[in-house]
Amino acid sequence: MRIVILGPPGAGKGTQAKRLAAELSIPHLSTGELLRRAVADQSELGQKAKSFMERGELLPDRLILDLIGEELRKKTYASGFLLDGFPRTAPQAEALESLLAERDWKIDIVPLLQVEDQELVRRLLGRARIEGRSDDTEEVIRRRLAVYNTQTRPLVDYYRQKNVLTEVHGQGTPDLVYDRLRLAVKATVA
Ligand code: AMP
Repeated sequence: MRIVILGPPGAGKGTQAKRLAAELSIPHLSTGELLRRAVADQSELGQKAKSFMERGELLPDRLILDLIGEELRKKTYASGFLLDGFPRTAPQAEALESLLAERDWKIDIVPLLQVEDQELVRRLLGRARIEGRSDDTEEVIRRRLAVYNTQTRPLVDYYRQKNVLTEVHGQGTPDLVYDRLRLAVKATVA
């Protein structure tokens, strides 16, 4: 199965994606995690990524597409995957579609985790205190939400038009949200 999980920063994508990928026995591919690792390793990519991430801005599409193009070629992803944090712009979504089409693949389902803005800010500020992520200060959080609204939200309609979008209410305990997510995925692919 090939899944793209969508939702604003703070919606719980990472946590839910890991759990769903484990249950479905498919690899979880998070561009944010790949990039944070690259920054920690001070690789060439990491050095380019750092300032964008610290400002809450997206990296240029070209950089992300090179990264994803290379990653998806690995055998690990041959029988399915769950993408988390990618695509995030319309050009990324279109590039993903061509990349998949070359292999006769397509995205089966796109769960959208929906959480109100106020709750997102509350959660992200809480996470900033616990994890000390450098992109979780209030100013950067607001920037990331604005970037989501302008650049990523249009993907909701893009996937809705392709009949693969499924909305999942993302408020409540992580277990409750996971039950909804799992039901939505099972209902769609059954
Ligand atoms: P995330 O953990 O998914 O919130 O990603 C953290 C940061 O990595 C984002 O705020 C961006 O700076 C960068 N990033 C992750 N995925 C992408 C992407 N698909 N396109 C551009 N930038 C990205």
